[in-house]
Amino acid sequence: MTSSEENEMTDLNTIDDWFAGTGYPIIIAGPCSAESETQILSTARALADTGMVHVFRTGLWKPRSRPGSFTGAGMKGIRWLDRVKAETGLKIAVEVASPQHIEACLENGTADILWIGARTVSNPFSVDELSQSLSGIDIPVLVKNPLSPDIDLWTGAIERVYRAGVKKIAAVHRGFSPFEKTTYRNMPKWEIPIELRRRIPGLPVICDPSHLAGLASLVPEVAQKALDLNMHGLMVEVHINPSEALSDAEQQLSVDSFTKMMRSLVFRKPTADDPGFLNQLEELRHQIDSIDYQIIDLIAARMNVSGKMGEYKCRNNVTVLQMERWLEILRTRSAHGLHTGLEASFVESLMKLLHQESIRKQTEIMNDLRENGECRSSE
Ligand code: PEP
Ligand code: MN
Repeated sequence: MTSSEENEMTDLNTIDDWFAGTGYPIIIAGPCSAESETQILSTARALADTGMVHVFRTGLWKPRSRPGSFTGAGMKGIRWLDRVKAETGLKIAVEVASPQHIEACLENGTADILWIGARTVSNPFSVDELSQSLSGIDIPVLVKNPLSPDIDLWTGAIERVYRAGVKKIAAVHRGFSPFEKTTYRNMPKWEIPIELRRRIPGLPVICDPSHLAGLASLVPEVAQKALDLNMHGLMVEVHINPSEALSDAEQQLSVDSFTKMMRSLVFRKPTADDPGFLNQLEELRHQIDSIDYQIIDLIAARMNVSGKMGEYKCRNNVTVLQMERWLEILRTRSAHGLHTGLEASFVESLMKLLHQESIRKQTEIMNDLRENGECRSSE
């Protein structure tokens, strides 16, 4: 870990410390935006009745990508949320994007959780400004990932909130904006939240499968994947009547589909203490360890040969890259991969990585030899 990656956040609270009795994983559900008192109250009552939700979420102020879109009910929605809390006992989570939003949410204790949305997290000045207003507060703050797959920007936003004295922080993985249309509205890039957890070991990470999937029918598979990656909770958009929603209509679940999804999700344990299971796991891990070392040794041997090729090509004044050879490698290895049951695209990515390193190595050797006058420079 480089010094810029050093983790200062060693005393973060776990989700279990956030509220008495909140289980794990934490389930946060509610409409994308607050539209009317009736919509908010009917959704909250129906969600409370399911008994499956810890926290009711909604956006009073929605930062929309394009002008002219519905931006939430604003300040008047605070009163609606106070009613939700009093009537249902659900905790309340609200998105904040300015110090005024924070002040309004905290003034009468309306919000139990605040979250910073993807668009706001993308701007360090905004996060600094919010952090000042969050200074020393004792309620949890959720930091969504920025729109771009930039782990430093995400880590930086979390650090800014932490340096304001907030100890109850969680990251929310909601996927990253693509240019092309992809299966999901946002690219999952699951490796990024995994890397974030490596960098900040005590940080809870919650998944927002709704913004990630972008389509109600795809939300359950994303939620299951998040649970299988041992994420610490789900934040799901649920609307009393999704087809009438004023924002994100396509991805919001009805209360019925939410209930159905929750029943069908498999909540696996992060580990098990059964000795038989642990022994078997240990045995399989030994096998993986041994195979990994063999793979690394084989790659080192391959790179050794690449080095010799670099030398040979240099002495004969031949370019590092021969396109036909590279295309043949890609084709034959992907085909071989298929025979062994590996995904062709995986083998292709692997070969590209090996090839890149091989080119780097050959170029390095060629440059060294040329500098020492041991082979002709190409004219
Ligand atoms: C939201 O949660 O409603 C929202 C606006 O999400 P994001 O910031 O992830 O786009
Ligand atoms: Mn939304």
